[in-house]
Amino acid sequence: MKLLLSSGGNGSLSKEQMKELHGQIYKLFGNIKEVVFISYAVKDQRKYTSGIRNFLWPLKDVNLIGIEEFGDPIQAIRDAKGIYIGGGNTFLLTDKLHKNNLIDILKDVIKQGVPYMGVSAGTNVACPTMMTTNDMPVIIPNSFETLELIDFQINAHYHEGKMWLGNEGDFVKHNGETRAQRIAEFHQHNEAPVIGLFEGSCINWKDDKGELKIGGGVIFKAGKDPKVVKRGAIINSNLDIL
Ligand code: ASP
Repeated sequence: MKLLLSSGGNGSLSKEQMKELHGQIYKLFGNIKEVVFISYAVKDQRKYTSGIRNFLWPLKDVNLIGIEEFGDPIQAIRDAKGIYIGGGNTFLLTDKLHKNNLIDILKDVIKQGVPYMGVSAGTNVACPTMMTTNDMPVIIPNSFETLELIDFQINAHYHEGKMWLGNEGDFVKHNGETRAQRIAEFHQHNEAPVIGLFEGSCINWKDDKGELKIGGGVIFKAGKDPKVVKRGAIINSNLDIL
């Protein structure tokens, strides 16, 4: 199984980091002709696909085809040589994956070796559930269960500390929960380990282990102190650092 799980927020990457990300995408998809883009995380799927294809897709020799461009989405996934799920709203994405009956077929083909890239919401749904998303529940999916390609949870766009809001030249403290507090709440009810992935970071996952690329993140386990992990760290399914 080959996965590239990106936190998203790639617009904030330096030129060097962007080059590294594009290198990772090339390594994943560079030897195939076509990738199916699952655009369900955004309402206007056609516009979303064409925006990604025209402005953000780095592989000129690999066609990116939106799932909405196929007559039968299940058949499209059955035939796919590569799959990319884009970011947006994770509730909407999860709802559409369930409604279009794509959960089992996606699991099957990706576990059999079809390369997969997720960005942000697309990374959230690679986890056992979508319960560590940052998104607003704009729609009620039938289930929070997602693809379970990995055994741990990811919190995308993770940042440390409290937020400060810019207000006419001043900064004021924002009193909402920190990401770490939200993940601690998750662990009051759930056991699965969680990695908060910094903006622009990604995990290059192969079978049963992965390598942190670009930035890094923080690993959270129920009842244990959080651990910062940096680019180059190798992790397993239990988020132990190898
Ligand atoms: N809305 C995010 C995205 O860009 C997902 C998240 O923050 O959980 O897809």
